[in-house]
Amino acid sequence: MQDTKPAKFLIAKHIPYEGDLKSTSTEALWTEHRRLSQRFKQILKTVQTGSLTLKDLPEPDTNLLDVKTELLNRMLGRCEFCEWRCRVDRVRGDKNGACRVGAETRVSTWFHHYGEEPPLTTGQGSGTIFFAGCTFRCVFCQNWDISQNPSNGVIVDGLKLALIMKSLREEGVANINLVGGDPTPNLHTILDATRHLANTNVPLLWNSNLYLTPEAMNILTDVIDIWLPDFKWGNDRCALRLSKIPRYWEVITRNHLLAQRDGDMIIRHLIMPGHIECCSKPILQWIAANCPRALVNIMGQYRPDYQVPANPNYKDINRCPTDEEISQTYHYADQLGIIYRPVS
Ligand code: SF4
Repeated sequence: MQDTKPAKFLIAKHIPYEGDLKSTSTEALWTEHRRLSQRFKQILKTVQTGSLTLKDLPEPDTNLLDVKTELLNRMLGRCEFCEWRCRVDRVRGDKNGACRVGAETRVSTWFHHYGEEPPLTTGQGSGTIFFAGCTFRCVFCQNWDISQNPSNGVIVDGLKLALIMKSLREEGVANINLVGGDPTPNLHTILDATRHLANTNVPLLWNSNLYLTPEAMNILTDVIDIWLPDFKWGNDRCALRLSKIPRYWEVITRNHLLAQRDGDMIIRHLIMPGHIECCSKPILQWIAANCPRALVNIMGQYRPDYQVPANPNYKDINRCPTDEEISQTYHYADQLGIIYRPVS
């Protein structure tokens, strides 16, 4: 964020790919991706310790970011970016996947966000880009006009998105904060944008529900510097009822482990009314046991929104969490030794 070391995507640009992208089979390209990704991780360590700088590295015509973008463009024809694995052909404009996002990426808005976690808003704030569409259907979503309306906003390609990122950094933002809805359906455009960002050094922040497939996580881990996952539910029953998401616990815990292996992480958890025993406590317990180094933001600002106020099926969450519920959650986090900062 302070511009003393290069962002990961800038290092990935210096990892050469020698083959012909278009004629290589997808299976062979994944094998190459694994090999180049290992090479990237070795180089990353030497750059982080200061023994190498970008000037010491080759400037290949084709690089690891090109391989990643090619793989994503192929995956888009049978989309498996997230664990819905809809396998719809988004290249041909099919919008029948769970996210209802087609080939095009739409950005609803972008601005300097000063309300994110303090470590992320130094300088001129966090350069936040809101993508339209989401892989979840949370019945209480406060951004439902963006998340549940994939036609919201303006269409951007990789180049336009890169220009947005570049101008935000030139205006002094500490990072590029990719959010929505959820950024996952727009992975192909985001990776393409990193190919166009030439002289802009800025950390990329993945602000997401983290419901990605392992394939998509493998693509992302070499380009995301900071993870900001939203850990919502402590069991599959609550996730299915209130976010309409299957296999939540298995997918989200797996991806938290993958993310923490390859970057800094702040885990967010929104306290839901009546969900302390079934959700907040199991989540905090899991974090303490599995991600002890992660910072956690336990948030108490839930307010009923979207479908909740009018639908009697959700009357149990048609209220704010009580002071008692919030302090009980903080107290539990204290007992577990979790590093958190209350935001209200
Ligand atoms: S991003 Fe996820 S929800 Fe959207 S089409 Fe692809 S697999 Fe389906």
